[in-house]
Amino acid sequence: MRLLNKVAIVTGAGTGIGRETAILFAQEGAKVAVSCRNPKHGMEVVDRITEMGGAAVYIGCDVTDEQQVKTLVGETLRHFQSLNILVNNAGIGLWGTVETMPPQNFMKLLEVNVLGVYLCARHAVPAMRGSGGNASIINIGSAVGLVGCGNSAGYCAAKGAVANLTRAMAIDHSCDGIRVNCVCPGVVDTPFNDQILAGVSDPQDVKSRQEQGNLLGRLEKPEEVARACLFLASEESSYMTGSMFMVDGGVTAR
Ligand code: NDP
Repeated sequence: MRLLNKVAIVTGAGTGIGRETAILFAQEGAKVAVSCRNPKHGMEVVDRITEMGGAAVYIGCDVTDEQQVKTLVGETLRHFQSLNILVNNAGIGLWGTVETMPPQNFMKLLEVNVLGVYLCARHAVPAMRGSGGNASIINIGSAVGLVGCGNSAGYCAAKGAVANLTRAMAIDHSCDGIRVNCVCPGVVDTPFNDQILAGVSDPQDVKSRQEQGNLLGRLEKPEEVARACLFLASEESSYMTGSMFMVDGGVTAR
């Protein structure tokens, strides 16, 4: 088992990438704090892990609320006594150009996708230091945090910020024994993408363009992102920090 005796927090763990990551981490021996806002989704993941014989607890948290984030870390320590891994996965997508996107949507993207990462890291770092270091923070960025994408101005800005925040955090906290890396997926088949497709006039056409927009000719599975997170969480990636880990089907290779 690659994460035996490790304790992990996964935010946005009720669905999609976070769900698969929480389950995979538990399969690999980690005790997992499954966090999101919807308790039904969170408890379903906890039940799945428990049925597999793993250890997990649901801790509800809106990552934009510092008090809730503080409680998330405190409750994780209370349940599992240490903290070694944080996956900053919670995120939202809102679409538009700088002209069509209202300021409140732009701010909401920054609030959840950037401030949320900052707040979770802010409270996780002291707990990780207190757990003896040898820790890993994984920020879920995006291929479009490194290249631009149409009709996605706010989302690109937010994920670009996550990419460079990752580098800054890696520099600041290597001395604490904390590695910080950013996983950059392509288009992943999750409720996030279902929502994109639900908002267009011809979903089949958009989906087929998404499939052809990468080098592998299909959408990415959430478990394929989870496996990248597992690598970065485990000792197998012991010399990796400050990196952009592309899991994007070659979208950015062109
Ligand atoms: P999902 O919509 O399935 O998962 C997003 C999760 O974030 C949900 O569980 C949601 O749960 C949670 N969440 C949203 N807002 C908040 C909040 N304020 N506080 C706490 N949790 C919140 O999508 P994905 O699994 O696809 O997305 C996961 C990450 O991957 C996101 O950061 C996304 O930007 C990124 N990503 C996704 C890609 C894709 O194509 N799907 C591509 C590249 C990156 P709840 O509502 O219960 O809180």
